[in-house]
Amino acid sequence: MALESPRAVPTMPHMRKTKILCTLGPATESAERISELISKGADIFRLNMSHASHDWVRTVYGRVREAATRGSKEISVLMDLTGPSIRTGDLDQPWQLQPGDQVELRCKPEAAPTVPLSVTVNYPELGKDLRPGDIIMVDGGMIQIKAAEVCSSRVLGTVLTKGEMKSRRHINLPGVPVRLPPLTQKDYADLDLGVELGVDFFALSFAREPGHIQHLQLLLEQKNSKARVIAKIENQQALQNIDTLVEASAGIMVARGDLGSECPIEELPIIQRQIVERCSYHGRKVIVATQMLESMIENPVPTRAEVTDIFNAVIEQVDCVMLSGETSVGRYPEKCVEVLDTVIRRIEKKYPSGRFASDAPLKTNKHKTVKAAILLANSIPGSKLLVFTLRGVMAHLLAHQRPEFAPIFAFTPHRHVSRTLVTARGVQPFVLPFAEGEPEAAIRDAINLLRREDLIKPGDPLVILSDALYDGVNVDAILLREA
Ligand code: PEP
Repeated sequence: MALESPRAVPTMPHMRKTKILCTLGPATESAERISELISKGADIFRLNMSHASHDWVRTVYGRVREAATRGSKEISVLMDLTGPSIRTGDLDQPWQLQPGDQVELRCKPEAAPTVPLSVTVNYPELGKDLRPGDIIMVDGGMIQIKAAEVCSSRVLGTVLTKGEMKSRRHINLPGVPVRLPPLTQKDYADLDLGVELGVDFFALSFAREPGHIQHLQLLLEQKNSKARVIAKIENQQALQNIDTLVEASAGIMVARGDLGSECPIEELPIIQRQIVERCSYHGRKVIVATQMLESMIENPVPTRAEVTDIFNAVIEQVDCVMLSGETSVGRYPEKCVEVLDTVIRRIEKKYPSGRFASDAPLKTNKHKTVKAAILLANSIPGSKLLVFTLRGVMAHLLAHQRPEFAPIFAFTPHRHVSRTLVTARGVQPFVLPFAEGEPEAAIRDAINLLRREDLIKPGDPLVILSDALYDGVNVDAILLREA
């Protein structure tokens, strides 16, 4: 088989379908850096509440909105709520742990130390949830402790791995069902800030049950927020409930950092693939997160393995790939976005249709209409999909059914809908006022807009989908036009 020469790669730009989500942090908090990230291809920004003060979030959010307006690009913002993580307390000085050392984790305030290496933890139920033999992973698994003696106020364990333990370390308990609440007091305060600012998505860390998502979505509705909830899948409890969690949420984040500590590492790629498949089945968006370009925190070029990791996510047809430390604290944040953008475009050009077409049942007439529009677009070379959508439903359905080649241009009169659509694979959203009952005027305006933006050329086949109101009746329609 002859391999395609890289020189033969056509250079004409194409619309990137996989979206790029960047975490903001000290490395990218200035207005200039935010603008640069946008110009390199960032679509969504993440505000990670584990590391952000409210003042910082207010300032940076304002800069994002200004930069997006200046750059004339729709940008979505996701606030990542810390959730109920388990942490150790303060140490006078770091411990240099050796295999065989005895350590104590005290989970009740009244418990006094009984061994020299003794530290508090912020989770009072730890002694009730753990069993002797369970493994306690500290700091993403850098230190592993085997529980030996367990009672309601403390856990005595034996260190399995050599390592330095510092203050306030994150704890994972692989395979242990925990009774943590869905949200902490800090999350509720952060949520109020996100609602006040008008962020588009909230990601819920350590979501374990659909009720956690429903609780948060209901809170948002009560606060008149249109934001949607993304469930961060971080442990085995969440994996056991994956179908109901996917159904309850607007989308899923495959949080590979914590998942990698909570599950055997060899399971991680399989888990990623299975979550992507469940999201595809239920028609929800999926974000692949963590260590996509980890080496670029320090280096200006990615490793070959990282490029292949991006390849896998693009071939799986995920909606978004996410950068964390790479853009929040890394030395080359803009370069990271540039690398993602270039690699994704190349892979999408070579394998435009990916491998995972959804086999989900077509539940409603809307699903069937969307499927018919996609079949039409797939069978007409060079066609573009245009969708007119008030609440974003039709556009999301189109994106979830993954058209093979056609880009999706979505038109909505509502800014918040347009911002939500930024995260959907293959969708380029536009805010376009359209009067109900006048679909022809809206189509004309949309075509003019796309021509002005050089996104279509005269003669391009357009498959148009709308749920326009005719005489007060909602009619789903597919139209075939030429630009
Ligand atoms: C993760 O664990 O992969 C993740 C995205 O969560 P966080 O960055 O909040 O640890």
